[in-house]
This record gives sequence, C-alpha cells and structure tokens, in this order.
Amino acid sequence: MSAALKDELDRLREGHLYRSRRVVEAGQGVHLQVDGRRVTAFCSNDYLGLANHPSLIAALKRGVDKYGVGSGAAHLVTGHSAAHHALEEELADFLGRPRVLLFSTGYMANLGVISALVGRADQVFEDRLNHASLLDGALLSRSRLRRYPHADSGALLRMLGEGGVSLIATDGVFSMDGDLAPLPELAAVAQRAGAALMVDDAHGIGVLGRDGRGSLDHFRLGLEQASILVGTLGKAVGTFGAFAAGSDALIETLIQRARSYIYTTAPPPAVAEATRASLVLVRRDDWRRERLAELVQRFRRVAGQLGLPLLDSPTPIQPIVAGSAERALAWSQALEKRGILVSAIRPPTVPEGSARLRITFSAAHSDEDLERLLEALAELPACEVA
Ligand code: PMP
Repeated sequence: MSAALKDELDRLREGHLYRSRRVVEAGQGVHLQVDGRRVTAFCSNDYLGLANHPSLIAALKRGVDKYGVGSGAAHLVTGHSAAHHALEEELADFLGRPRVLLFSTGYMANLGVISALVGRADQVFEDRLNHASLLDGALLSRSRLRRYPHADSGALLRMLGEGGVSLIATDGVFSMDGDLAPLPELAAVAQRAGAALMVDDAHGIGVLGRDGRGSLDHFRLGLEQASILVGTLGKAVGTFGAFAAGSDALIETLIQRARSYIYTTAPPPAVAEATRASLVLVRRDDWRRERLAELVQRFRRVAGQLGLPLLDSPTPIQPIVAGSAERALAWSQALEKRGILVSAIRPPTVPEGSARLRITFSAAHSDEDLERLLEALAELPACEVA
C-alpha cells in the first residue's frame, strides 16, 4: 500500500501537481508571517478584511464568556444555541428570504442540500467550472449529473431537451475565474424546464449586490428565480461556516434530510456571535466594497497595460492564466521571492492546461501593496511567453 502511495506522490511531484501547506504564524491579514517570512498576501478570500476585525474579535470573546467553547452536540440535539438561532434570523432578514439554515462549512452545505433534494430518479445540471462541493453533492445524491459548458445557458437549454430535469446548480461567482454566472438567463431556463435553480454564492456574498447581498441581488433576482441560495461565512464575512437560504418548506426539508446537517456537531456558538457582529459591518460599510472595486479597477488597468493575460472578471478574484502547472508554480515562486504571496492553482482544481495565479484583493490592501504586486508581476520571468 505505502509503496503505491509513494509512487503516486512521486508522480504528482513530477507533474508539478504536488500540494503542500504553509504555516501562518500570526493573525489573518494582508501582511502575514508565513514560514518565518513577512509577505503581502493576495490569495485569501477575506475580501472585506474582516477576519481580524476588532469588533469580530470582541464578539467572539463575549460569545466564549457566555457559551463556552464547544457547542456540545448536533443542532438537532442540544447544539443549537440562541446565538445560532439569532444569526439565522439576521441572515434571513439580510438576504430577504423567509428562512436560513446554518451549516458547518460551505462544502457540507452543498453536499447536504443537493443530496437532500434529489435522488436516483433526478437529473442535476451543473456548470463545468462549478466548485467541487457542488459536483460532489450531485455525486453523493446518486442523481444523474450532467455538466454544461461554462456559463452557457444556450447549451444548457439544448441539453435540457434530452429528458427530465430537477435541479440546475451554479456558482454565483466562479471561484477560480472570478466571473459571474449568467443568472438571469439561467433563471429563465430553469423556469422553462420546471427546474429549481440553486446558486452557491460563496464569493458573491458581502462583495456584490446592495449592501453585499450577493450576486442574485446584483441581478435583482429573488426567491422566485432562484429558490435555493447557499453562502459561506469564511470568505467576505470573515468568520467560518455557511448557510442555505430559501422558503420555510426548503429549510424544514433540510432539517429533516440533509445528512451533513443532521449528523455533525454544531459549530461553536461564539463563532455565530462573531458572524453576527460581522454582518453588521458587511451591511453597513459600503466603503469596503467601494475600496475593493477601486483596487480591482486599478489592477486591471495597469495589468492590461503590462500585457498580462487577464480573464474577464469584475470581482476581487483576478486570475492570470499561466497554462502549465510548471509555469504557474514558477510564477508563484518568483513573486514569493519578492515577498508577494499568490498561490498557483493547478489541475484538478482548474482544467488541464489552465493553471493560473489566483490573485485576490481585500479592502485592506493599501495602494502601496497594489503597486508592489504590479511591479513584481511586470518582472515575472516567463511573462513574455504567456
Ligand atoms: N463553494 C465555493 C464556490 C467555494 O469557493 C468554496 C470554498 N472554496 C466552498 C463552496 C466551500 O466553502 P467552505 O470553505 O465554507 O467549506
């Protein structure tokens, strides 16, 4: 067994696909102490710079004083605290949806929601570039998973002609590309096919839409158009966890049937308290979204002038496609030598031949941080051949 594992690990190394972790030695932020070195990071999902915000830290501490550390049990036993309950109500109010159900992580939310709603007799249509958790949810449900070409509602419509459909699921903002799903078109296709539309807005919540309500709100779409919304709390919201939002019937069904909800310990209540504090800032502080938009615009203007191969992304996710895993790694290492941390994203996270630097911005980045990034990108060794 272990010889076979070693062979496989060697194969990954040779293909430049080996993954390893870095040890971050102090609090989250755009300036990090990583493996003993100070770096400026452009690869976290802490888009609004809230992960280390004093009011979240204070709320977490108050939460620990009130609730202790562990939740002690699953939500359906004695793990569902007043903090969780209040957070669900506040998220429902924020999103303008009747009800919300907290999940421990976004990965678990997608597994739980899809496998609770569809089964062997159903078909699930998913964008080719959907997050792994949406794809895994469909696989776990044992429904027939069919993948349509990226953001192509016309192709989806043609595929739908070939039999019954139950669910269409898409990222709201694609996590490795930064572009938005064509949600109005997908909603129209779903309505025509009598299918439910599920949107995983992990990277839209807090960043897009009025008061940060996400990509559905950006397009002014609501419950009627997309009956299932999943969001995560570990990205722009700066804490940890996830939720599903929708009708009372949807949420009650998930409570009865979502196995990744039922059979797991509820997250610490103090984390829910920190999320409640974050939600106040997410809703109130438009300046963080404005700052992000400004950084993204300036980055795209200068990177365009430098001739860097940008993708068509209006969000804080700004990938630069390198092609081979080897080149993406070399770029990431060259940046790191200059104190800039950007991770190389390689297959199978992205399709073969489209390895990339996934640059992400945070409202906490300064003008100087951006300048340094652009200077380092301008000198990437392999950029002339991109
Ligand atoms: N959906 C998308 C689109 C994501 O990018 C991620 C996280 N990378 C998840 C779901 C999973 O969320 P979590 O990290 O909370 O498990």
